[in-house]
Amino acid sequence: MNSLSALADFQADKLDIFLSRLQTIFAQMDQKYDEVAEAYGFKCRGCEDNCCLTRFYHHTYLEYLYVRLGFDKLDFPERKIILTRAVDVCRQVEMADKKGEPVRQMCPLNQRGMCSIYFYRPMICRMHGIPHELRKPGQPAFHGPGCGDFDKQCPDVSNVQFDRTPFYFEMAKLENEFKQAAGLTGRIKLTIAEMITCIGQGA
Ligand code: SF4
Repeated sequence: MNSLSALADFQADKLDIFLSRLQTIFAQMDQKYDEVAEAYGFKCRGCEDNCCLTRFYHHTYLEYLYVRLGFDKLDFPERKIILTRAVDVCRQVEMADKKGEPVRQMCPLNQRGMCSIYFYRPMICRMHGIPHELRKPGQPAFHGPGCGDFDKQCPDVSNVQFDRTPFYFEMAKLENEFKQAAGLTGRIKLTIAEMITCIGQGA
């Protein structure tokens, strides 16, 4: 039994509590992101270099389960379209990887430029775009850049701080608690296309 299928045995009422705590962390992230974006005067209006084309990996079971919750709320025909697209994206990526070619595939949840599960989207989809920092104990702070559109809109980057550390910390803490409660070890590494494919297989 793989670790995702083990999730099926986890009690629904207990899972609700974990997902509600995840929702609270996401709400805090969104609030901080909005504050920093406003301080910079940055507005994400969608762009050609769409971040939904980026091959993001997601590493927590809870984000997977939150995506699954959002996906399950879509109507059947929409789910079917998205699942077909997800399988195709996985196939295209696998082929490109085998050839050693770079690949940019639109996230299967992006429909007509909009995220189909916006409320349930994972952490990186919420925080991408704005320059940030990350502080790991005993290491110098890591500074990450903003996206291309950010650089165009805000060429004179002032020193507005967007420290992702507390959010990463809270996410890791919650995920560890969840894994302990569910008897899971290790961590996942999945793109959205891979997540949707797993969901389609009943995981
Ligand atoms: S989950 Fe939503 S926001 Fe994240 S990459 Fe996919 S479409 Fe974009």
